[in-house]
Amino acid sequence: MEQEVKEKLGNDILDILSYCINCRFCLPACPLFDITAGDMRQGASGVTRSLYYAVKWGMTDKETLNELRDIVYSCMTCKNCEIACKNLATATKLVDAIEKGRQLLIEEMIGPMPEQKRALESLERYQNPYGMPPSERKDWLKGLDVPTFSKESEVLFFVGCTAPHDAYAQNMARALVKLLETAKVKFGIIEDEVCCGNPSVKMGELLLFEDLCEKNLDQFKSLGVKHIVTLSPHCFDTFVNRYPEGAMQGIKVQHYTQFLVDLIDQKKLTFGKKIEKKVAYQDPCYLGRHNDVYDAPRKALHNIPGIKLVEFNRARADSLCCGGGGGRMWTDFEAEIERIANLRVREALEIGVEMIVTACPWCYINMVDGVKSVNVEDKLKVEDLAELCVGAL
Ligand code: SF4
Ligand code: SF4
Repeated sequence: MEQEVKEKLGNDILDILSYCINCRFCLPACPLFDITAGDMRQGASGVTRSLYYAVKWGMTDKETLNELRDIVYSCMTCKNCEIACKNLATATKLVDAIEKGRQLLIEEMIGPMPEQKRALESLERYQNPYGMPPSERKDWLKGLDVPTFSKESEVLFFVGCTAPHDAYAQNMARALVKLLETAKVKFGIIEDEVCCGNPSVKMGELLLFEDLCEKNLDQFKSLGVKHIVTLSPHCFDTFVNRYPEGAMQGIKVQHYTQFLVDLIDQKKLTFGKKIEKKVAYQDPCYLGRHNDVYDAPRKALHNIPGIKLVEFNRARADSLCCGGGGGRMWTDFEAEIERIANLRVREALEIGVEMIVTACPWCYINMVDGVKSVNVEDKLKVEDLAELCVGAL
């Protein structure tokens, strides 16, 4: 059975990557190429070629597999390579191949990266990837009067695991609560919320993902959830693209930026205060490239009086990843000479903005780190869109 699973994964990888004509148009699109000084193994076609030949030649020695693991897990699953391939070559599904490669490395007991193993163990034990005991999960609610989801609730605010764990993401969650209250939305949260499973599915640990998926689906069903609004684009993507379509039927899922625009359109949310700022918006990969949500956050920004949105030179489908997707929040790689977030911070300085606006907890954390590490805290601020909206109420 185990062997059959491995063979199927190997065949799927070869099948997906057989579309690749090795033109390497995807290579410069990959942020790994930027941060590894052009190391050919690290760009998109480098990652997938390494995987292709390891499977094709049936490589089994531990040293080679460990090297392959470092290459395959360095990918952020940002999807930039797929867009390049779709526009210029053969529409090869590189991210699918890479994710299957990770599943195969897990089957071989080689994956994931050592630091990522702790996140998976925590998911198994505490149902969150941060080693946070369930009692601590509720700490961020102190001083707030956030309702628990009940029969009266129309919207489930799915908080995700990062906000209860990290102060910046917590600011986002608090801001969104304020906006929902202002718009008089009948919403609620699940106090003992369970991770959507994104880190496990991205690291290739599917059994764990299925377990978390089942737990969430049971909760949604028993509570009668019909509408979910997520803080994180990663939870949003997981519910929309990874949960079984049948089980999610009748449940509307939105990222919070989409819901805010609905509230603005219905005049339930209006911004009266002027915020005179020149800002750039950081498209999260899992909102933009993975789900084509580009306009909603921009529309919300345009509704804030005084805000001047300046686009990054790489924006929308061409946007640069923050460096945190695909399990990369839990690991660093020695071969990398620069952090991607630092590149993004420099790009923001080049276009002369005072603030980077995010719509994702991981983008937020990485951009704040980038600003500190480039040492430009006096020139460039980072705020989440929800916080900016609260400032304009
Ligand atoms: S652009 Fe597409 S076809 Fe060309 S090397 Fe990359 S994956 Fe292969
Ligand atoms: S998904 Fe992003 S990080 Fe991964 S290989 Fe493609 S371009 Fe590179």
